[in-house]
Amino acid sequence: MTLTLDHCRALDAQDPLAPLRGHFQLPPGVIYLDGNSLGVLPKATAARVADVVTREWGTDLIKSWNSAGWFDLPQRLGDQLAPLVGAGPGELVCTDSTSINLFKVLSAALNIARSQGPARRRIVSERSNFPTDLYIAEGLARERGLTLDLVEPEGITAALGPDVAVLMLTHVNYRTGAMHDMAALTAAAHAHGVLCVWDLAHSAGAVPVDLRGADADFAIGCGYKYLNGGPGAPAFVWAHPRHASAGWQPLSGWWGHAAPFAFTPDYQPAPGITRYLCGTQPIISLSALQCGLDVFSAAEALGGMAALRTKSLALTDLFIALVEQRCAGHGLGLVTPRAHAQRGSQVCLMREAQAGDPRELGTGAYAIVQALIARGVIGDFRKGDAPDSASAAPMPDILRFGFTPLYVGFEDVWHAVEHLRQVLASGEWQRPEFNRSHAVT
Ligand SMILES: *Cc1c(COP(=O)(O)O)cnc(C)c1O
Repeated sequence: MTLTLDHCRALDAQDPLAPLRGHFQLPPGVIYLDGNSLGVLPKATAARVADVVTREWGTDLIKSWNSAGWFDLPQRLGDQLAPLVGAGPGELVCTDSTSINLFKVLSAALNIARSQGPARRRIVSERSNFPTDLYIAEGLARERGLTLDLVEPEGITAALGPDVAVLMLTHVNYRTGAMHDMAALTAAAHAHGVLCVWDLAHSAGAVPVDLRGADADFAIGCGYKYLNGGPGAPAFVWAHPRHASAGWQPLSGWWGHAAPFAFTPDYQPAPGITRYLCGTQPIISLSALQCGLDVFSAAEALGGMAALRTKSLALTDLFIALVEQRCAGHGLGLVTPRAHAQRGSQVCLMREAQAGDPRELGTGAYAIVQALIARGVIGDFRKGDAPDSASAAPMPDILRFGFTPLYVGFEDVWHAVEHLRQVLASGEWQRPEFNRSHAVT
């Protein structure tokens, strides 16, 4: 079937989630396909932040720790977020960054493994995991005299064994958009007595996650991607209740203390997930994150994460089909899996250089993304592996398009692909201004 603009408009007209777009402040003329990197500003955020600053802070001052509920905001936001990832109330807190939360849960998991004896000396992860996850694991491995083994996705289960302490994975791969089977991999790890730490940075708010159903051990995730909490928003951390009160995390600051205002010289960890807090919390940032979470609460009445997932798959299916129909012959290839069960909420393309391309411009992936951005279609570029990489299957340079079902519509997908077609057909991407690199890609 040949897809048309009218077809896309009809899909928007039937979309039960379409009203959610009204919760966001999208700049005119922009098709935003980068919500997997930095989510869009909710309309409520600016007023909420202004109120926290001028009234709660400016007028009520220190009373607001109690009167405005600042003190337990990490737990309250945790309870609001928990249903999106299959966690129960009281099991999750919003705090710190993803990297810092990973340090805490990976340390806690390694401590549990060590308490079982000296044999478990390996951390297993994926070579294509997000770098900060690998760097945090590398740092902990170095500090504790452990090894970090990086494997390809097909080699994960074979790498498990009685000498492995922790399997640390990101549920949806940031570059390819490929999604793991959380329940199956967690079960495979547990069969070897291995603990599982899941990074939900590209999952929370994007795909349904069932941490309890999958029997995961620990999880962390990001507040500024699909949750729309704003740049550098607080992240979140979850521990299965069987571990939360048992484990020790090394950032034992006073906010994780059972009685912080007792000011005792010794540390007594709070019960449960509260011990994963460290110091005084960033209240203004947490308040902004709450506005992002409020949109998901509004989405609940329209079908919640299940409806968001249905729309997300419809958007990514449409994008793939349109690229294949309308951009054929320009060397594009699909990197994201076609199988729904293996796909997150983004589509990644690669490009092979074509006869007639200026050789020095390489595959053009970076420049095509820049040319699209200049046209108001915002996706991003992720560098592939160097040709001499140790990887068995080196990753190509990636053009990455995130589809946030809260605010991206089907007509947006049509126009995005039409711009892509024009950028390729005209050779516009070859212009020098699109081939200069920036600090943040
Ligand atoms: C985005 C992302 C992070 C970000 O970590 P920060 O501490 O916020 O910089 C970490 N891990 C993964 C898998 C991500 O996608």
